Amino acid sequence: MQDVPPTAAPGKSLSHTVVARQRAERPPPCRRCRAASWWNGWRVVLLVAAGWVAGGVERQEQALARAKCSACRRGFTCYPPGVYPRRQYQLDVVAGAVAAVALGDRAVATAAAQVSASATSVRRWTAWVATLGNAAELLAVAAQLDADGVGGMRVPAHEGRRPGAERAAQVLAALEQLGAALVRRGLRLAERTGLGRVLAWQHTAHGDVYGLVAGRLRLSPAMAPGGGRPMR
Ligand SMILES: [Zn+2]
Repeated sequence: MQDVPPTAAPGKSLSHTVVARQRAERPPPCRRCRAASWWNGWRVVLLVAAGWVAGGVERQEQALARAKCSACRRGFTCYPPGVYPRRQYQLDVVAGAVAAVALGDRAVATAAAQVSASATSVRRWTAWVATLGNAAELLAVAAQLDADGVGGMRVPAHEGRRPGAERAAQVLAALEQLGAALVRRGLRLAERTGLGRVLAWQHTAHGDVYGLVAGRLRLSPAMAPGGGRPMR
């Protein structure tokens, strides 16, 4: 028996973890009509998520609880803390790979191998982060949440960094500050990166999902508490 199958993804083979099923006694009310809902089975997904070892990733089999509204009959999925919808590679993994390329000036292929993704995926993630929001606006939201704790932009200078990577680096650094401000404000978030924390916060607060393809939702100053929904 081989420990590492010859078909393993580049870089390293991922450990496979089956995450224990968990759901509350009752599902939350329907987000659309606020009526009561009931549990309606499970949906099993395979994710690549940050592992326990710092910088490591693992393949996770997660069962997501499904619920159904008693009034409008809409079915919906309840996501446990730390799981982001419609993504095989979870946000902390994406943030780590983009940070390696945009902030660490690592080669795309190296960053991709470290998370067992393709170089194409890492390039796509970097472009996505670069257009996800405006760094100055994100920092302004962070300052609104926690004026004392937010410092200036600390993006390490690097000559010859590609323009897309430069912008991704700035957005990522601003998201780190905003994520840290959220944690200081007492939000309990399972995510460890700014990207993961901010998007998880928006998902929990507004149900917004920032997909790579669909919708092109951008983070905006309107996401500040009391500021209503982010602009679409
Ligand atoms: Zn409903």
